[in-house]
Formats: sequence, structure tokens, C-alpha cells
Amino acid sequence: MAERFKNYIGGEWLDATTGQTFENINPSNMEEVIGRFPRSTKEDVDMAVKAALDALKGWKTTPPPERGEILYRAARLLEERKDELAAVISRENGKTRGSCIGEVQSALDMANYMAGEGRRMFGRTTHSGLRKRFAMTKRYPIGVVGIILPFNFPMALSGWRVFPALICGNTVVLKSDEYSPQTTVHFVRILEEAGLPKGAVNLVHGFGGEVGEAITTHPDMALVSFTGSTATGRRVAENCVRRGARVSLELGGKNGVVVMDDADLELAADGVVCGAFSVSGQRCTATGRVIVHRDVYDRFLAILVEKTSSLKAGPAEDDGSDVTPLINKPQLQRVLGFIERARADGCRIVTGGRQLTGGVYDRGYYVEPTIIECDGPTKEIAREEVFGPVLTVLTAEDYDDAVRMLNVSPYGLSASIFTRDVTEAFKFFDDAEAGVCYINAPTFGSEPHMPFGGLKDSGQGYREVGWAAIETYSELKTLYVDYSEKIQNVQFVEED
Ligand code: NAD
Repeated sequence: MAERFKNYIGGEWLDATTGQTFENINPSNMEEVIGRFPRSTKEDVDMAVKAALDALKGWKTTPPPERGEILYRAARLLEERKDELAAVISRENGKTRGSCIGEVQSALDMANYMAGEGRRMFGRTTHSGLRKRFAMTKRYPIGVVGIILPFNFPMALSGWRVFPALICGNTVVLKSDEYSPQTTVHFVRILEEAGLPKGAVNLVHGFGGEVGEAITTHPDMALVSFTGSTATGRRVAENCVRRGARVSLELGGKNGVVVMDDADLELAADGVVCGAFSVSGQRCTATGRVIVHRDVYDRFLAILVEKTSSLKAGPAEDDGSDVTPLINKPQLQRVLGFIERARADGCRIVTGGRQLTGGVYDRGYYVEPTIIECDGPTKEIAREEVFGPVLTVLTAEDYDDAVRMLNVSPYGLSASIFTRDVTEAFKFFDDAEAGVCYINAPTFGSEPHMPFGGLKDSGQGYREVGWAAIETYSELKTLYVDYSEKIQNVQFVEED
């Protein structure tokens, strides 16, 4: 009998008001039901928002260093339970244990970083334009924050969104993704144990069209932080903007690597292989394209194919698996659809291209690590996010041509260049249309203390993570103190 999990509202673990549930399946063994989760509706979201509003008064007046103490305790609990939590993530997300340990580490790094922010959260003081007047800014919470998660990094993203929201004094309604809800239950249990007051974080499980819509349309939801696909993000933004609420969007990517003729080709190939195929490409910063200088194209492709051919596809519980299962059947059909259309578009499948079947592969949805050679940057496979183990290879005449191709994609999340030329490396920072840029490194690997976010269709301006998250999750007030003992104002014109 599968374990039955609950929502967490106002400090109580509750079923959905309708009593309905949905199943969560192990992607490495689809016959295994991990648990049953509440299929919540607007009514449950309304209860969660009410609990968050009730808790807001107490939490926003708690001094930030005191809020930080709770986050430090959460970090310690994450550290103590790293292995246990990694096992939970691995089972419901289909990633290897090693990759999931990294995810827990990422969440706990963020807990420590944001706990420290409780003693910073700086405003500014400056001189007034008038005599005997004091001018400063101070940060305040925004209110109730809705956080909507995707399936692929349930622990890291819970930490990356919830800890900044809390340290700034907001209260939270967290929506888990329907394919990775169990991790969020463990995340919230840790906050509960760390001493977070009831109602400061509320967890509601369920589907996007029900729980997600109820969050984005709720009149008391002051900010929605959404991480997921660009198509859903647009819908979330419309709902929020229509009612004047803030919205922070972290969306998809078609992240490109440029390999120049002077690059260390072995290093570049290692970077591209792990960027494209680890976690089966189900990473917003996965490498979807590599754009290679004509003079090294053949050599680079040969190294790339050799390294790709040595990858082992297998289930999450096998630590030797390099390529793990896709999360579900729609994702499999989506990936195979992209490959088929690329073929029909005249692209060449260099390696891979098929679903893996037989033995352990019949227990999940696996696609061979696939490399597709494409003769132009505008074809679908070279522009659109696949979210699977599929890499497109393009040839460029020179640096300018490579950057032109890179920027053809509508997305702008991350980009990287492999080169030994320092001038080209720094030029790349200016030229690449991406929110996160790397030199001689893969397209993923963002650190918790550094801002993260995309340009173009990958975001909409706000930055999450690092110090920038404090700006996203707080309101700035501008404050003046006049000690001149007269009414003075920069807008008065003083007459002699
Ligand atoms: P998705 O857009 O299908 O779902 C994300 C979340 O939105 C889920 O919780 C879902 O239930 C919810 N949702 C669905 N419809 C909704 C609606 N109408 N209103 C509100 N919420 C709704 O994305 P996914 O398949 O879970 O995740 C993959 C996508 O996420 C990829 O595009 C990936 O690049 C992106 N992603 C981006 C980042 C980033 O930081 N930029 C990080 C991880 C994943």
C-alpha cells in the first residue's frame, strides 16, 4: 500500500478538502508507486493563503537575524539528512544519488547564505539635498508569496526560492510539481523541525490547472515566483499582471556552447557531454547546442561522439548510470518527436536517436544520448528546448558567425565559450544574449550566492538566487527624517 502524503497548511498536515489523491511513480521503475498525494483545488489554496496571511504579521515583525537562526537550523538538518533526502529525490526524480546529494548541498548552501543575509539585507543612507535632513532606504517584505516549482530540481529549487522569501519576512504558499511532490514534504518537515512558525510556509500539492491557477489568480498573492516552461510562464505572468501582482519567471533555455579553433578540445568535449547528457538533459541550463569553428569541427565531433558513445544509460539506483530515465511518457514522446522532426528537416543523426528498450529500460523511459548535425541555426532542433538528452551541432566560420548563431535562439538562459583567447572570451560576455555566461566551463553550475536568471524567452527581468533574490523578495521603502524644525522641501522654490 503506497504511503499517503498530505498538504501542510497553517502548521497542520491535511488531506485535500475533496479527499482526492494522485499517484507519484518512480521513473526508474514505473510499476512502483511512491505515494499518494492530495489532489488539491482552489479551496485548499484559499486555506493556505489565509494561513499565510495570518502568519504574516508575526513573521514580518520577527527581526531578520532571528529568522536567520531558523534557516541555520534548517541547514544543519539538511546536512544531517543529506543521504536520506538524496535517496528520496533519486527515487521520485530518476536521477542518480550523487546528483541528488549535490541538490541537497545546493539547498543547504542557500539556507546558510540566506541566514547570513538576515544580518545584512542592506538599505542605503545618503545625503539629502536639503540641510538637516536624513535620507535612507530600508527593505520590507512583500507579503504572501506563491512559489510554483518544476519537477527537475525539487530540493534545490525549494531552497533557492523559499529561503530568500522567508529571510525577507514574507510568508509562502509552495506548490510542488506533480512529478516530484515527496521531496517538498521532506523540505517542509525540516522547516517545521527547525522551528518555523505555523503558517509561514504552506505546502499545497496538485496540478497546474487547479492549484497553479488558484495561486496565480488569488487576490492576496502579492508575488508569484514561477520556475518552469516558457509557455506556462506566459500564462502565469498574464494572471499576475492582470491583477497588478509581481511575478518572477525562471523559464526554459536552449543553451549554447561555442568551441573556437584554439580551444582545448578534450576539455570542451567533456564540458559539452556533461552539459548535454547528465540528468538526461532535463536541466534548464542543459547544453542544447554546440557551435564549432569550422577548422576544428571534424576533430571535435569525433571526440564528442567517442565520449558520448561511452556513456551508460541506466536507472537512478545504479551510481554508474550517466544517462537516467526521462520523467514521464509525455516527456519521452516530446523528445522522440523533436528527433523525428529534425530528421524530416534534413538534419543528420550522428549518434543515438532512439528509445532504449529491453531489460531495465522497459521499466522507464530512456532515450539514447543523441547528437544531431544541423546546417543552420533556425531549424526547430537548433532553436527550441528539447529537455532531453539531445544535442545539436552546428558549424561556424568564425567568432562573429558563432555568436550570430548562438543569438538566433529565442531563449537566453546560459551560454559558454571554450577558447584560449582572452579577447574573445571577454567579448563573449558582451555579445552572448544569455543571463549566465561561462568561459571554458559547461552551461550549468550556477552558485547559490550569485544571481541567476535568463534573458529573452528565458525570463522577464527579475533575478533569483544570490544577493539579487533579496531585491526580488523585498520592497524598498525610501525614508526621510527632517531635523531642521521647519517645513522645507526640494520642490519649494525659496524666494528671497
Ligand atoms: P511546467 O511549466 O510544465 O510546470 C512547472 C510547474 O507549473 C508545475 O508545478 C505545474 O504544475 C505548474 N503549472 C502548470 N500549468 C500551470 C498554470 N496554468 N498555472 C500555474 N502553474 C501551472 O514545467 P516542467 O515540465 O515541470 O519543467 C520543465 C521546464 O522548467 C523546462 O522548460 C525548464 O527549462 C524549466 N526550468 C527552468 C529553470 C530556471 O531556473 N530557469 C529551472 C528548472 C526548470
